[in-house]
Amino acid sequence: MGDAAFAPSFRSGQGTSLALVGAYVLAGELATHDDPQDAFAAYERIARPFVEANQALATDDNGAFFLPKTQKDIETRDHILAEITRNGTAGIFDNTKARVHNALRLSDYASV
Ligand SMILES: Cc1cc2nc3c(=O)[nH]c(=O)nc-3n(C[C@H](O)[C@H](O)[C@H](O)COP(=O)(O)OP(=O)(O)OC[C@H]3O[C@@H](n4cnc5c(N)ncnc54)[C@H](O)[C@@H]3O)c2cc1C
Repeated sequence: MGDAAFAPSFRSGQGTSLALVGAYVLAGELATHDDPQDAFAAYERIARPFVEANQALATDDNGAFFLPKTQKDIETRDHILAEITRNGTAGIFDNTKARVHNALRLSDYASV
């Protein structure tokens, strides 16, 4: 579960979200299946594409942003992080990442 099962990288972020989503889905599937093997299979079917899509964010330009190589890129990163601290992320990043972050619609297991 969480980092022990599918730690993403610093470049992708999302470690806490994946850990919480994984725990929620696994608990929900165990609670709604009689056979744990069926629950584990359902958990993997639901969680794996979401985990892999979020891990794949590490291959985009996050590395260049967080680990800049030039003085100019360091200053750009620091400026953006200062802006986020002051005003939040609205308008700073494109919504590609947000789409991946929000790609999984969680079941309401309590009502199943
Ligand atoms: C510097 C840094 C910055 C990060 N920033 C972000 C961020 O901005 N956003 C984000 O989503 N994620 C971030 N992460 C990742 C995030 O912290 C992890 O993905 C998340 O904490 C994983 O949760 P987890 O419960 O799987 O593991 P952990 O939080 O590591 O919890 C595992 C727990 O198990 C305990 N433990 C280990 N071995 C044993 C044992 N033998 N017996 C009993 N207990 C044991 C440990 O002490 C620990 O408390 C960051 C990580 C780091 C290191």
